[in-house]
Amino acid sequence: MADSNKIELARISAKGVVQGVGFRPFIYGLAKKYRLNGWVCNTSEDVKIEVEGERESLDSFISAIKSEAPPLARIENLTVSFGSSVGHGNFEIRESEALPGKYQLVSPDIATCNLCLNDVFTAGNRRRHYPFTNCTNCGPRFTIIKDIPYDRPLTTMSSFKMCPDCQREYDDPLDRRFHAQPNACPVCGPQLELTDKMGKPVDCRDVINKTAEFLREGRIVAIKGLGGFLLACNAENVEAVTLLRRPKRRPSKPFAVMLRDIEEARKHCVVSYTEESLLASPQAPIVLLEWNSSSSICRETGPGLKYLGVMLPYTPLHHLILQKTNLPLVMTSGNISEEPIAGQNGEALRRLGDIADYFVLHDRDIHSTYDDSVAIVFDGEPRLIRRSRGYAPFPIHLAFTAPQILACGAEEKNNFCLTRDNHAFVSQHIGDMENIETMDHYERTVELYKKLFRIRPEIIAYDMHPEYLPSKYALEQAEKLALKSVAVQHHHAHIASCLADNCKEGPVIGVAFDGTGYGNDGHIWGGEFLVADYKGFRRAGQLEYLPLPGGSLAITKPYRTALGYILALLGERALDSRLGFLGKIDSVERALVLRQVELNLNSPLTSSMGRLFDAVSAMAGVRSAIDYEAQAAIEMEMIAYDAAGEAGSYPFSLTGDNSYTIVLLHELVAAVLDDLLKGCHASTVGMRFHNTAAAMTRDVCVKIREGSGLNSVALSGGCFQNRLLLTKVTGLLSQSGFDVLNHKNVPSNDGGISLGQAVIAANAA
Ligand SMILES: [Zn+2]
Ligand SMILES: [Zn+2]
Ligand SMILES: [Zn+2]
Repeated sequence: MADSNKIELARISAKGVVQGVGFRPFIYGLAKKYRLNGWVCNTSEDVKIEVEGERESLDSFISAIKSEAPPLARIENLTVSFGSSVGHGNFEIRESEALPGKYQLVSPDIATCNLCLNDVFTAGNRRRHYPFTNCTNCGPRFTIIKDIPYDRPLTTMSSFKMCPDCQREYDDPLDRRFHAQPNACPVCGPQLELTDKMGKPVDCRDVINKTAEFLREGRIVAIKGLGGFLLACNAENVEAVTLLRRPKRRPSKPFAVMLRDIEEARKHCVVSYTEESLLASPQAPIVLLEWNSSSSICRETGPGLKYLGVMLPYTPLHHLILQKTNLPLVMTSGNISEEPIAGQNGEALRRLGDIADYFVLHDRDIHSTYDDSVAIVFDGEPRLIRRSRGYAPFPIHLAFTAPQILACGAEEKNNFCLTRDNHAFVSQHIGDMENIETMDHYERTVELYKKLFRIRPEIIAYDMHPEYLPSKYALEQAEKLALKSVAVQHHHAHIASCLADNCKEGPVIGVAFDGTGYGNDGHIWGGEFLVADYKGFRRAGQLEYLPLPGGSLAITKPYRTALGYILALLGERALDSRLGFLGKIDSVERALVLRQVELNLNSPLTSSMGRLFDAVSAMAGVRSAIDYEAQAAIEMEMIAYDAAGEAGSYPFSLTGDNSYTIVLLHELVAAVLDDLLKGCHASTVGMRFHNTAAAMTRDVCVKIREGSGLNSVALSGGCFQNRLLLTKVTGLLSQSGFDVLNHKNVPSNDGGISLGQAVIAANAA
């Protein structure tokens, strides 16, 4: 039997999110509680702890590390080895150690905690009304970090010298702000400044009061937040919202709103319990909620939509502004069109000066910009549509150990993914790679992630599409750095992403429905049924190929797709003059489209489900030209909800055998036109079409199951952001006995592509 009074030594290593989350003070407190001596230290790999005491106390201490860890800590790995005492006299927190080549996880930025909110709203508190209040449980992290280990000199807080009061908190292991790197107060920390659009300071006693006054007057104010500038205006003021749209070149793209608290959210939206917890979580994403018809938020905020993107304040600055204005505020990324969000003061004044009347600036730099994340709750679980603030750069956990890979992502809704060990570091949302600013932001962010996580890719993965900017970047890098390169088919990446998101390896039946993806045969894919795992895929089914007259022009003008599909499937005779949507098409353009289809001029072939949605939406007169991506399909989903009880569907047929099925669409399109000629309402057509899309998905999956014996179906691609489609497809497949895998942590849209590319490249022989 061991001598119970013998002093032993335990060496402990904790890995995961253990820095910048109050972990060392927690360890300090635990060591005091169990009367253990030794030290704790951050390294660039882990938190190392050396403690000595009686074995029983050591065991209690170790189990408490796991069971009582601070709320934001995530211990992924805890290793312990025992040895003999070296005679530590006390317990201390040692200076951080940088270990060459080692890395650790970095916490995302975290919404203000309740204790800090108390400080901000308590009379007499030295941080009362201080907009940069934070502690080890909340505040900026990733956006201010320049390198690891996470210590103040390596953050954008390095230029602020702490006052004696802040320093005392920072040095006191029992204080909530012990080693809180962004710790600050009104005496020593960052300060607000209110300027006009020329950058000239506005004379006022209180920036928050004056800002609130401007917002109430209907002005547009650019506010520097955690990850970049947000453009704010009164969401009840039609004129202000309309003004905000004009220079942003988004005539109808929905804006998110920020509401004061949950009670306020309930006034405007239906909020479930899960949605409420998600809104109030430390990640505080934008959540798409069902919008009440009685809401006072003007409809111009999300024209034609039944969902409203809502977030709660996530910094003290937001809380203060929302309290003061007492209004729902539009809060949309500070950019024009698809440029990256503006992050620096000068840049914001230059880029947003045509939009905003006033600027709320501050002098804490944003090292890496960050958009707000967007989520929905489906089937009782949160699902990300845009993964950014609050989530990145926390990795997706892989079920296997991956080599170091850079997966470059897709062209739209781009992010990239770097892998190391069993971590897939999916970057924050970068955006649509259509301009030089976004490409610069992309390259800078790749370098930051490589540096933070000490990754030197050996393999580079990219989309097969030869014109995608990230693919061109990948090939340049591969040549420059002599890396192995792996080209990945777009829809294979979608399905692999869904598998990785569910920690599964396949093979599965993969249903990939989206707008556009470069196919192995050079055609545009997007209504695909694959049999896939990480190692490879076989195309087992598709929607039939149909022409897109004018190529990309057809994507922005869905009536062209509608015309092309009708002509190809039913011929010119089917263009009945009583069809309402035909009347809106200019006769010259109509003749041109006819010629394009007839002579096969600039009319690439596509099997895209997204385009089929567009075509039916245009035929039904819902939307003939779009000004944001997928608008025609989104509006058809919205209008279909008005025919909630409609159970009818349209005919279609399948050709081929169990190994390859093609969905033929002439009966479907004929039946849609027939309904419209009979005067059927667009909502009924919309619902019948959703029912049909779900039925064809089930029928093709059943055929593939007969041929392959597979019973799991992974759903991926942007079309599955459509909740009506997702609900119907998931429901029908489950009824037919399939296991259905849906996305959770990465988006089903092209924001999931980089993860899929990475896991495929990791498994490429
Ligand atoms: Zn806090
Ligand atoms: Zn201070
Ligand atoms: Zn896609």
